[in-house]
Amino acid sequence: MIRLSKSRFVAGVQCHKQLWWKVHEPAAEELQVGKVLQDLFDQGVIVGQLAQGEFPGGVLIDLPHNAVEERVEATRAALASPAPAVFEASFFADRVFVAVDVLLKTPTGHTLIEVKSSTQIKDGHLADAAVQTWVLRRSGLTVDGVEIMHLNKEYRHPGHGSLLVREDVTEGVEALQADIPAMVAEQLAMLDGPVPDRKIGAHCFEPRECPFFDRCWPDDPDRIMTLYSVGPKKAVAYIEQGINRIGDLPVGAKLSETARRQLRSLKEDRLIVEPTLAKALEPFDGPLGYLDFETVARAVPVWDGLAPWGQSTAQFSFHEELPDGTVRHVGWLAEGPDDPRRELAIAMIEATRNARRIVTYSAFEKTRISELQRLVPELHDPLEELLGKLLDLLPVVRNNVYHPGFLGSFSLKYILTPLVPSLSYQDLVIVDGMEASVEIARLLFVAHKIPVAERDRLRQDLLAYCERDTLATVELMRTLKGLSHG
Ligand code: SF4
Repeated sequence: MIRLSKSRFVAGVQCHKQLWWKVHEPAAEELQVGKVLQDLFDQGVIVGQLAQGEFPGGVLIDLPHNAVEERVEATRAALASPAPAVFEASFFADRVFVAVDVLLKTPTGHTLIEVKSSTQIKDGHLADAAVQTWVLRRSGLTVDGVEIMHLNKEYRHPGHGSLLVREDVTEGVEALQADIPAMVAEQLAMLDGPVPDRKIGAHCFEPRECPFFDRCWPDDPDRIMTLYSVGPKKAVAYIEQGINRIGDLPVGAKLSETARRQLRSLKEDRLIVEPTLAKALEPFDGPLGYLDFETVARAVPVWDGLAPWGQSTAQFSFHEELPDGTVRHVGWLAEGPDDPRRELAIAMIEATRNARRIVTYSAFEKTRISELQRLVPELHDPLEELLGKLLDLLPVVRNNVYHPGFLGSFSLKYILTPLVPSLSYQDLVIVDGMEASVEIARLLFVAHKIPVAERDRLRQDLLAYCERDTLATVELMRTLKGLSHG
């Protein structure tokens, strides 16, 4: 017998087809949990444990999730006990199983508390709490309050304010109650049948991007989703008008200069270089330095001044062109769980001291250096000097160059192969910034759980990844200068 859970119900609210695949193809490639997603789950577990700490005396239903009957029985016993709260309180009614993060006993009944590791209530959270409320009531419980407990975006480590906040969502949840029985019945009936039809649309992105996106959306390099800066809403609006490909756009469509250049590039199937490129590159007269950062972000911040999920620099790579035409490289990566930012700032100031101009690809490094200024005030002046040397290459590419292989993106990973085919990330173990961030966190905070040989390898992989980012920018600059000369 197929049953629903709160996460299945929320998936079904987003799209029946998505839910059907999740239930009938649990081993699907799209559902495999990679390092980044696993880290997100792990962060959620930490937040959940902290939330439980807010309710002293609470009892945890600590049984396997598939032991439904035992969990329900244990929950009944815990509710009958003097414990003020039950964690993972489990209920099963009408083929729906739910485990409530925190079920708090009150003088008039119970308050259901759903814990989220986000810093605000998001779409989907209400449906999640609503189906739980419905199952609890079907199980005979009085639920007279519903809350979402989430991370407080105002919190700053090491403890100014409360890390978790509770928001009352009873009204919103009550408003959904009348619809829940039909929604549950529809989902269950759908799951008992063949894969349903569902047209693509805005729901493929909301409340989160569907894992089966590539199954449903046309696999066409010219697809409207790759129009520069189109965004899901506009893309869906185009599709609803029958505009599935960029080439279908009407002649008078209101588009940005960059999107117009993209259209021309696709139509002529060639690299477009504007005559304005040479002028845009004038400030980049060499020799140049090239700087790139990698960061970590933890749900529960660990270093001073950080908010939940606040990003913090933990690694840099710097390439410097020398007057004799050679290139020198400095790589730096934090070690251990202590705040590395002061040490990083000192090493970076030293590494970049002789460079007259320093290229970054995006404004990300500028933002992080400004943060370092606030955090390490005694280094304010040398960091200010460094800020004054920065030049962002991304707008130069965006405003002057387009190749069909960019697929509507100006991220370094997308533009590198079309512009610098000799250089890629394919020979590296770590190939994107999200993965690097998660791996840095693993290296810094749980190194004791990693065998020494793997730890050394991971360190080298991270250094190699960040180094490739700045080397890519060095090569990109060479290519752009070559293109600007005609
Ligand atoms: S891509 Fe869209 S239509 Fe396809 S399963 Fe996902 S949400 Fe449903």
